[in-house]
Parts: sequence; C-alpha cells; structure tokens
Amino acid sequence: MVSKTIDMLRNELPVQQESLVLSGEVPTGLVLVDVVNGFCTVGAGNLAPVRPDKQISGMVDESVRLARVFCEKKWPVFAFLDSHHPDIPEPPYPPHCIAGTDESKLVPALQWLENEPNVTIRCKDCIDGFLGAIEKDGSNVFVDWVKTNQIKIILVVGICTDICVLDFVCSTISARNRGFFTSLEDVIVYSHGCATFDLPDDVARTIPGAIAHPQELMHHIGLYMAKGRGAKVVSEVSFATPKEA
Ligand SMILES: [Zn+2]
Repeated sequence: MVSKTIDMLRNELPVQQESLVLSGEVPTGLVLVDVVNGFCTVGAGNLAPVRPDKQISGMVDESVRLARVFCEKKWPVFAFLDSHHPDIPEPPYPPHCIAGTDESKLVPALQWLENEPNVTIRCKDCIDGFLGAIEKDGSNVFVDWVKTNQIKIILVVGICTDICVLDFVCSTISARNRGFFTSLEDVIVYSHGCATFDLPDDVARTIPGAIAHPQELMHHIGLYMAKGRGAKVVSEVSFATPKEA
C-alpha cells in the first residue's frame, strides 16, 4: 500500500535531483539541522526512533562524511541543535530535546564538531532554525555566519526533511530573496543527508491526538516542497580538487 502510494507520488510529484561536486572555488557552507540524540539515537527520547532506522542512520552517516571533509578543508559548518527549556512546551510535539540533556546533544559520531574552529553551534528552541538564530538584540547568528564567510552555497542536511529542514530552507530562501544576504546564491538540500521519522497510520491510530507520518512519503514530500520553494535537491555530493589557476 505505502510503496504503491510512493510510486504514485514519485510520478505525480517528481523531484528531479542533481549531483553536486564541491571544489571550494565557490564558498560553500554546510548546515546540519538537529542531528541530535533526541531525533536520531534509538530510544533516546519521545521523538527518537524506537528501533534502528535505515533512513535516519543513513542521514547520520552522510552528515558525518560531509562534516569531516568540510572540517578538513576548513570550510564553514553551522550546526543547529534542538534545545528546549523544560517549562516551555513545543506543541504539537511531546517534550523533547530538553536543554542540558543528552537528547539535545549532537549524536556521538558528530560530537567532535564541538571542538572544531570552523564550526558554529546554535541551540534553537523552535522548529525553524532561521528564527531560532535570532538574538535578543535582533541580530541573527545564522545570517551573520553567511555574511562573515561570504557563503554562496548552503548545503543542508539533517532531520526532519519535512519539518525543521523544510522550514529552515523556506525561511532562508525568503531571506535571500529579500536581500538579507548579498553573497548567497543557492540553498541545496541533500536528499540522502536528510531523514524524517516514521509513524505509520496503523500506529498513529493507537496514540490519542497523533497524526500519521509515514516516513518515505513525508521525506519525499519534504523534498518536493523544498524544491517548490526554490531549493535545489541533490542525490549525490562529492568533492573535487580545484583546478590550477
Ligand atoms: Zn523541538
């Protein structure tokens, strides 16, 4: 049933995906959205996978691969960490990623990022990281990061494709279109570097107030929506050495 629906969706809502080759000639920044235990590590909390999840572990692996290369090359990396005050809920979600707990920490395979000089880490207490990067004085840590590094391409990975990744991508594109950053040209979503959670309809029906969220479908819809708002979607990211001048 779900696989038939996915085939139908892929026909009716196709998402053309390109390949991205990064050489460093165009300043590129990597944005990691919420690759934290609370969303990625089995059993870590209310919104964590309950069993090993191929899409989520693939997303973590690709995030680690890209982060390693970006850090080797000293290219800018920006990591959002979902992080909530215990007394401030985030409806419609149950409590998750409470600040100071393991849930709001980067997954073990990415914790080394905390010590890398080219990495900016931003805790956010909302779905949309662009809004979550606004400081009390009105400045925006993410906007400043793009400007300081003169970033032309933002490559986005993380979780969830259709929620935090999508909202961040949409806001960033609107901000670019309004002239918030003069350098920024493209926002690129890497499909295998993104994942979403799985809550099939038959399970959702047993949880009061829950809404069905089949993983493959919602991942696809997230990519489709991002593309429709003006993001590029790629299915491959590789690295090339820059040409000699
Ligand atoms: Zn949250």
